[in-house]
This record gives sequence, structure tokens and C-alpha cells, in this order.
Amino acid sequence: MDSNSYLLEEEGHVIIIDGSSCEQVLKTVSNREWTVDLLILTHEHFDHIWFLEELREKLGMPVVACSLCSERIQDIRANLSNVSDLLYYFKTGIVREGKSPSFTCRPADITFEDSYEMDWQGHHLRMERLPGHSPASTVIWLDGTHVFSGDYLIQEEKEITRLKGGSDEDYETIARPALERIPDGTCICPGHGPMYEKGQQNE
Ligand SMILES: [Zn+2]
Repeated sequence: MDSNSYLLEEEGHVIIIDGSSCEQVLKTVSNREWTVDLLILTHEHFDHIWFLEELREKLGMPVVACSLCSERIQDIRANLSNVSDLLYYFKTGIVREGKSPSFTCRPADITFEDSYEMDWQGHHLRMERLPGHSPASTVIWLDGTHVFSGDYLIQEEKEITRLKGGSDEDYETIARPALERIPDGTCICPGHGPMYEKGQQNE
């Protein structure tokens, strides 16, 4: 279940998107003596917050998320960490040795309901909650050029709405129309798999 974390860097300042990796992030940040300003979450699922508390402890930055995400990362059933081994098996066909512990995270430090905009180091960031994959699923726009799409728009994967908390109806009425409006040529940075340019993917 390889999940992506992204680091946005400008003038030695950094925003981290998702808490799915730790060692690599810490190494990159400390080698270059960067300052981490924020960590933004795309959604509440365990594979995107594995290392959230460790990163908070080591880097001390505030965490931004929609309020539903903030609530749901505190709940092992909502963040799905109570069934992580099962989901791992469905995805990979591999049965893990031992049992992965369920876990929760502390609430986010900055929360918003459905959308949030901010200026950062000469860039514009806009977060928009698009329920469907999960109630708290949020896409993050960077300027007009990049979209951090969490578990939406993963290359060669159908959108997943069947996990607990997912909703086909929300996906069809809210998420899908918004995702379809993203212009071709936008750089899509999904939570799993490679980045790509919208319009270039195999439909
Ligand atoms: Zn997910």
C-alpha cells in the first residue's frame, strides 16, 4: 500500500501533503535545513496518516484538514486502521505476518468545513472537500497548475467508493463533476502511483 507524501518547497519553506512517509521526509527536510510550515491532509484513511503523529513530534508543524477529517483521524473505524490488514490483503493478495495495530491521531490544528484558501510563499493553495471516496476526501489545488488528489484520479484505477464511509451518491453528485472540471494539462499528484498530466492518462 504505497501511499505518496509530497513536499512543496519554496525559498526553504515546505508544505507536506499527507503523512504517509516519515524517514524520507525527515531526511530530506533536515539535509536541506528546510522549515516545514504546514502539513495538509487529503483524507482520513490510515495509509495517508501512518506517520502523522511522528512527523508532528519531530517537525512540530501545524496540520490542516477539513473538520470531518480532523474528527475521523481520531477514530480507528473511520480511519480504517482497524481493518488495515484486511485492506492490505485485498489490495496486494499478501497476508501480513502478525497484526498491524489500530491507531488514531490527534485533531488537526487548523480546520475548515468545505473549502479553504491560503497564500503561501507566492503561491495560492485551495482545498476543497469532495466526498465520495470518503466523507473527508479533499483535493488540494496549487496555483492553477497542480492538483493533489488523494485517492481520486489514481492512474489506471477505478475510483473507490466502497470502503466504509464512502458514498456512490456523493461521488456522482459532488466529487466526479468537480474532478471532471479540472482542465486537461493540469499536473495530477495522486495519493498512490505516479504523477501525470490530465488528459494523458489511459481512460
Ligand atoms: Zn483512501
